[in-house]
Amino acid sequence: LLPLGILMAIFTVSVVIWFSRRRLSPLGELKIAVEHKEFVLHYQPIVSLKTGACIGAEALVRWQRPDGSMTRPDLFIPLAEESGLIMQITDQVLDILVRELKPFLNANRDAHIAVNLSAQDIKSGRILPVLQQTLYGTGIDNHQIWLEATERGFMDVQAARSTIDIARTRGHAVAIDDFGTGYSSLSYLQGLPMDALKIDKSFVDTIGTDAATASVTTHIINIAKTLNLKIVAEGVETQAQADYLSARDVEYGQGWLFAKAMPANDFVAFYHKSRRQ
Ligand code: C2E
Ligand code: CA
Ligand code: CA
Ligand code: CA
Repeated sequence: LLPLGILMAIFTVSVVIWFSRRRLSPLGELKIAVEHKEFVLHYQPIVSLKTGACIGAEALVRWQRPDGSMTRPDLFIPLAEESGLIMQITDQVLDILVRELKPFLNANRDAHIAVNLSAQDIKSGRILPVLQQTLYGTGIDNHQIWLEATERGFMDVQAARSTIDIARTRGHAVAIDDFGTGYSSLSYLQGLPMDALKIDKSFVDTIGTDAATASVTTHIINIAKTLNLKIVAEGVETQAQADYLSARDVEYGQGWLFAKAMPANDFVAFYHKSRRQ
């Protein structure tokens, strides 16, 4: 009789938890996810288009719900940004990255991991002490952590400049993400010294088509070269796209042609395998 009572109690508690979660608003659910640290990272390799060697990865966050299902970032990052929860998520992303890749980054000094920052991380400058504290004592060099920010992060140019200047002085490379998909792309580029530019997938997609936008891709490459920025092309899916980019001296590519985003262990294996070939 006693075991049955216990079973009933467990059942009741489970049902209550299930219902209470179900009744939560999306924001309520996300708050709990942040509290319970329900985020995981997948790493998408970035490779040299000339040699195929992997030079690092971009860390991409996923929300792993208690039932095991994975939610893509575009389904919760906007809400996280609106609500300010994104800053706690950024902190957790950096914690996970250090936990999973500390030995790898210590053993492979040339490898870097790119982290996505939100406008709020940059505008407030709060990302600077967070980076310092998270990396302190890990043996990871600042130059191994790249920072990716979209144009939204640069809207407040004064605030962005000071954060980016300090980050770069400390050795981090800063990349402009999704370049060309927002507006006022060119004006802020002049005033903000950066290290790299990521060509958005929407432009890479046009390569090999006759669409007028295909020439925009070439222009973006030229802008990056004029400004002395390293270029990473994202969303490379075909060999024809890789060849086109490589022929225009784009150094790095990221996309399903090379690899999808994967757990840390798989990424480390991919990194070494790509460099033995
Ligand atoms: P993004 O920074 O532009 O990241 C690239 C996205 O394109 C990733 O989707 C990646 O999986 C996908 N992708 C890469 N190569 C290919 C390809 O060849 N084909 C196709 N169809 N897709 C490809 P994901 O992981 O769903 O991320 C979506 C967006 O979520 C990211 O876009 C980024 O803006 C945001 N995000 C991801 N992780 C974080 C994070 O830790 N913090 C913040 N603030 N935002 C993040
Ligand atoms: Ca990115
Ligand atoms: Ca991107
Ligand atoms: Ca993109």
